[in-house]
Amino acid sequence: MSLIKCVKIPEELVKIGGIFRKNGFKAYLVGGAVRDMILGKKGHDYDLATNATPKQVMGIFKKVIPTGIAHGTVTIHIFGMQIETTTFRTEADYTDGRHPDSIKFATTIEEDLSRRDFTMNAIAADLESGELTDPFDGQKDIRNKIIRTVGEPQERFAEDGLRPVRAVRFSGQLGFSIEEKTLAALSEPEVLKKTASISVERFRDEFCKMLLCERPSDSLKLLEKTGILNIFIPEFAICRNCSQKDSRGFHEFDVADHILYACDGAQKGNLEVKLAAFYHDIGKPECRTTEIVDGEERVHFHGHETKSAQKALASMTALKFPNETIKNVVHLVQEHMFYYEHSWSDAAVRRFIIRVKPENIENLFALRLADIYGMHRTPLKEGSPAWNILLEFRKRIESVLEKKSALGIKDLAVNGRDLIQEGIPSGKAMGMILNELFETVTESPAMNEKEKLLALAKNIFREKFRT
Ligand code: ATP
Ligand code: MG
Repeated sequence: MSLIKCVKIPEELVKIGGIFRKNGFKAYLVGGAVRDMILGKKGHDYDLATNATPKQVMGIFKKVIPTGIAHGTVTIHIFGMQIETTTFRTEADYTDGRHPDSIKFATTIEEDLSRRDFTMNAIAADLESGELTDPFDGQKDIRNKIIRTVGEPQERFAEDGLRPVRAVRFSGQLGFSIEEKTLAALSEPEVLKKTASISVERFRDEFCKMLLCERPSDSLKLLEKTGILNIFIPEFAICRNCSQKDSRGFHEFDVADHILYACDGAQKGNLEVKLAAFYHDIGKPECRTTEIVDGEERVHFHGHETKSAQKALASMTALKFPNETIKNVVHLVQEHMFYYEHSWSDAAVRRFIIRVKPENIENLFALRLADIYGMHRTPLKEGSPAWNILLEFRKRIESVLEKKSALGIKDLAVNGRDLIQEGIPSGKAMGMILNELFETVTESPAMNEKEKLLALAKNIFREKFRT
C-alpha cells in the first residue's frame, strides 16, 4: 500500500492559503474534503482549520459570516464559494449543551486534529503545498477502509454522543468497516446513554443521510444491532423476527429485513420515498393474523397500512421532521396497498387519483417498486405480469390526467357564486350540492358543463331542500 505525502489543492484554495500566510496565519484543509481527495473522489464542500481567531479571519477577508461563533466557526464567502473556517480547537462541542461556553483555542494543527472523531477525519492538508499532517495514520485507515476513533473509543464516544451515530453513518456512506474496539464501544451502556442525550434533530439528520446512502440497509442494520435505532425509533424493534412467510411465497424476510431492503430499493435520492419505505410496514406486527387454508397456514396483516401510517406520524413527529415531509410520507404509507384491475372504469381511476392526489402518484409508484424490491431483494422484472399491470395502471392514470377531468370541486364548471345566482343559499345545502355535482362529474366527465350542472343543482335543491 503506498501512502501519499501531498494532495492536489484546488487553485482558489491555494490563493486563500496565501492570504492567510501574508497576514501571518496558517490554514489547512480538513475533514471530508481531505478524506475524499485521498479516496480519489471529488465534490465535497471545504472545511478549513486555522490558527487565526474568528475575529482575525473577519479582519482578513471581505465577506465573512459568523455562522457558528460559539464553536469558533465563521464562513468565508470568496470566489463564489462558502468556506467554513474553524479556529484550532482543543476539544469538541458538548452536545448535551452543559458547557456551551467552554470553547478553548489550540495553537497547533496537531492539537486540533487530536480532538476530531475518527482517524480518517483527523488529517490536515496544507492549503498551499497540499502536504498532509496525519498524526493518527488516518490515511492508512482510509486505504484499508476502516473507521477508528482517535484515541480510546469508549472515551471519545462518551464525550460526544453524536460520534457513534456518525460512525454508523460513515460506514454505510463510505462502505467502510468499523474497527473492532470502536465497534464494540458503540453498544457499551455508558456510550448508549450518551448517544440517547443528543438532540432528536441531530439523530434525524444522520438517519436521513443513512437513508440516502447507496445501500441504506447496511448502516440501518448496524444502527439496529448497536441499539441506537431502538433509542430513537423504538417502533422498529417488534418488526424483527415478525415472520411473514407462508405457502404463497410472497415474502422471504421478516418484517424488519423487508423494510430495510425496501429502503435499498427505494428511488435513489428521493428522501420522502426512502422514509415511506422505512415506515410502510412498521405497523405490521400489531396487525398479524393467521388462518388455515387447505391445511396450510396463511399470514395476514389486515389494516396494517393505517397502523403503519399512525406509527409513521408518531415517530416522525417525535423526530421533528418538517410538517410537509410528515404529511407526504404518512399519506404514502397510508396508500401503499393500492391495487388496480384491468376491469376498472375510468371513473374508478379518477376516484383513485382524487384520493391519492396527482402530485403523489409518482412517489406512490416508486414506493410500490421499493416494496416489491424488499420482498426478495430483486427489482421488479420488466415484462412480468406485475410489471405489466402497474404499467397499464400508470398509462390509464396518465390518460385520465391528460383529459383534464375535474379532480376537485374547484375544477367544476360552476362555483358557489353561480349557484347563489340560481337562488341556492350559501351554507350547508350549497356544500352538499357541490359535492353531489362533483360526484356526478367524476362518474361522467361530460356533465362538467355550466348549463348541465346548473340544471342539476336546481333539481337537487328542489328535491332535497325545498318542502
Ligand atoms: P461530511 O461532510 O461528508 O458529513 P465530514 O467529515 O466533512 O463529512 P463534518 O460534519 O462536515 O464531517 O465535519 C468536519 C470535520 O469536523 C470532520 O471531518 C471531523 O474532523 C470534525 N468533526 C465533526 N463532527 C465531529 C464530532 N462530533 N466530534 C469530533 N470531530 C468532529
Ligand atoms: Mg464536511
